[in-house]
Amino acid sequence: MKPSPRLSLNNGVLIDQLGFGLYKVPPADAPGLVTMAIEAGYRHFDTAAMYGNETGVGRGIGTLSGFTPGDDTRGGSGESSPALSREDLFITTKLWNDDHGYDATLRAFDTSISNLGLEYVDLYLVHWPCARRGLYTESYRALETLYREGKVRAIGVSNFQPAHLEHLLETAEVVPAVNQVELHPWLQQAELRSLHGKLGITTEGWSPLGRGQALKDPVVLALAAEHGRTAAQIILRWHVQLGNVAIPKASSYARIRENLDVFGFSLDATDMADLAALERGFRTGSHPDAVN
Ligand code: NDP
Repeated sequence: MKPSPRLSLNNGVLIDQLGFGLYKVPPADAPGLVTMAIEAGYRHFDTAAMYGNETGVGRGIGTLSGFTPGDDTRGGSGESSPALSREDLFITTKLWNDDHGYDATLRAFDTSISNLGLEYVDLYLVHWPCARRGLYTESYRALETLYREGKVRAIGVSNFQPAHLEHLLETAEVVPAVNQVELHPWLQQAELRSLHGKLGITTEGWSPLGRGQALKDPVVLALAAEHGRTAAQIILRWHVQLGNVAIPKASSYARIRENLDVFGFSLDATDMADLAALERGFRTGSHPDAVN
């Protein structure tokens, strides 16, 4: 299977366009899922302090070649286990809301990196702006410190709306490399994507499949039939062609592979326009203003 293409972040660090999301993955399942995803070809993993599975993710990436080819419980691909080094992987984690503030952020980062068992992470994000706490600029200043100290290769934010980005940029010295936001055909974030383009921020879509719900959209299903692909592949291909990063989560080896197998076909302009017309402002998760 073709590996994911990479995008260059605004500081030159490369990120796989398709990564693997780990929200709601129980800690005990994380090592096996991460190892399986590595076997399938993923190199980019998205976790967070709040997910409670950083230790399990760390175990999975530490194992690196723990997948047993031919193990039927995992799909039995027969592919060989890759021998990877840390530099081959891209690991994102995130600062949780209760840890906002300069000193608290530095402490939270130490806990995350210790749980992951890593010396550095590739991307560290402020998980939510939590505007009512009024501390996200201070938290971000701590991310800038971590960046200068070489403990993170890139820093960014998540769930920031235009007003949060604009306020942050009044004091930030490092433009966020990424804004990770809910993004799928039913919530396309056109205004944010346009702003990101102007600011040099990479758009990363969370719940890229609309938490599975957008897979039943009739237009998506029609395109899937037309291309001989699955609904998930149509949506993930759409993300790739928009130039976004996307981090689908899946629980079986078959789906994990399916979601990465989107580089052997393309959607034409009419397909992309049909998908663009699906915007309906539908959120599977919280609105950023509701999280504090
Ligand atoms: P997704 O849009 O990735 O959808 C996941 C759901 O789709 C699961 O129920 C999964 O089922 C199902 N699914 C996956 N692949 C297929 C397939 N090929 N065919 C059919 N069903 C499929 O939603 P998530 O909410 O998990 O988002 C992805 C990641 O985004 C998270 O894991 C997390 O890393 C990140 N995230 C970040 C947030 C933030 O605030 N920054 C908030 C929420 C998520 P099953 O698991 O049973 O296979």
